[in-house]
Amino acid sequence: MDKKVRGKTFIVAGPSGVGKGTILKKLFETHDLYYSVSATTRDPREGEVDGVHYHFLSVEEFRAMIAEDALLEHAEYAGNYYGTPKRYVDEAMDAGRDVILEIEMQGARQVCAKRPETIRIFIAPPSWEELERRLVNRGTDAPEKIAQRLRQARVELENAGEYDYMVVNETVEKAAEEVAAILCAEHCRVDGRLEEILKK
Ligand code: 5GP
Repeated sequence: MDKKVRGKTFIVAGPSGVGKGTILKKLFETHDLYYSVSATTRDPREGEVDGVHYHFLSVEEFRAMIAEDALLEHAEYAGNYYGTPKRYVDEAMDAGRDVILEIEMQGARQVCAKRPETIRIFIAPPSWEELERRLVNRGTDAPEKIAQRLRQARVELENAGEYDYMVVNETVEKAAEEVAAILCAEHCRVDGRLEEILKK
């Protein structure tokens, strides 16, 4: 009988407002991947559903998860905590599914320190001006929050060299195609593949 091949983990990072969510939504239309639902202490935005977009927690609940070592990584971003519940990621990978972590830079670093085989994809805006325009037009954040996110975005862009791949979000369709191509290429790597074939 075939031995199940373990899934791979892909980090999809990039500044707030760059369009990661929209690109992933497109990708999920054609790919069966496990989207890791993060825990956060920020308030839900309009239309966000608890357990679907995030697990919305109090600071106390979030701290309890840290204490129980239930998070693969966690970080503070724009005044709130965000973290990846570990258990579901491992269950999905054990079941042979690829996992997508839509997380920011500090979290990406923690995951890669613990699991260096993780593949990192950075989503970049076509230009700085375009990112500013998108963040302002999203209309979901107060002006001081937008300014905070833009400062953070500058830091993320300056550190994009840490990632394995960069996808520029010119159009959602093209960006989703490029992410899909990266997933495909990673599954065609020689390392691991040969072992996979010999085990069968
Ligand atoms: P937002 O508040 O716009 O939903 O997310 C803010 C930032 O936090 C985004 O860059 C998003 O990718 C990141 N983020 C979401 N979930 C997590 C998580 O579990 N861990 C970390 N480190 N960052 C996250």
